[in-house]
Amino acid sequence: MKTKIFKGLIIISILFFIGINMFHQQTREIFKDSVCTFLNFGNTHNEIINKGSEDKKMIALTFDDGPHPRFTPKILDLLKEYDAKATFFVIGKHVEAYPEVLKIVAKEGHEIGNHTFSHIDTKQTSSIKVEEELKKTQEIIFNTTGIKSKVFRPPFGFYNSQIIDIAHKYDCKIVLWSPHQDAKDWNYPGVDNIVHQVLSKVQNGDIILLHDYVEKDCQSIEALKTILPELKSRGYKFVTISELIKNL
Ligand SMILES: [Zn+2]
Repeated sequence: MKTKIFKGLIIISILFFIGINMFHQQTREIFKDSVCTFLNFGNTHNEIINKGSEDKKMIALTFDDGPHPRFTPKILDLLKEYDAKATFFVIGKHVEAYPEVLKIVAKEGHEIGNHTFSHIDTKQTSSIKVEEELKKTQEIIFNTTGIKSKVFRPPFGFYNSQIIDIAHKYDCKIVLWSPHQDAKDWNYPGVDNIVHQVLSKVQNGDIILLHDYVEKDCQSIEALKTILPELKSRGYKFVTISELIKNL
């Protein structure tokens, strides 16, 4: 009798486990990238960085999808004004088109991260193509600035074990962002919303996700005019990703 109950419990557990996995798979299919990113945050890959140490009042501002002559120089001027260092996750094809902009980013002491050559959706792309895009962008960054990028941010924040292996092959750490620090500035939520999103939830060690290239107006430029002085007055120091995670 006891054996039958035991067997029954094992079968129920297996079915439950399969069901949960199928649901998880379906959820990934149905929802868009941002939700996949959210699901990723639940994973326990300790190779994935989405925050720095909570002991110090340090913050890493990150700007994705540039460089671009319309927006990046304005952001650089604001960073300089508030003595802030940041990290720019660049698209290889934008570096190819605007190498002079990236040279200024490097010269002003900011970190440069790899964000693939053409902003591919890594979830829908073969590992061969992902590696090709990562490698090509590493080379373009190096040929433009002499810098070997050490951080990789997959577009839409999607990763899996193959992407982790590829990043490691090129000595890159995968860096996402703090889950509460995605103001979705690419979707034009308004300057006040971006400011509120960043300031209301800020914590030590945050990695803040913003963009220095969007199709229309880059609202983050105006938002930074409030965010930078406010966080500085609260005692935060703005550092690069490598500086933020140095003692993790
Ligand atoms: Zn991006």
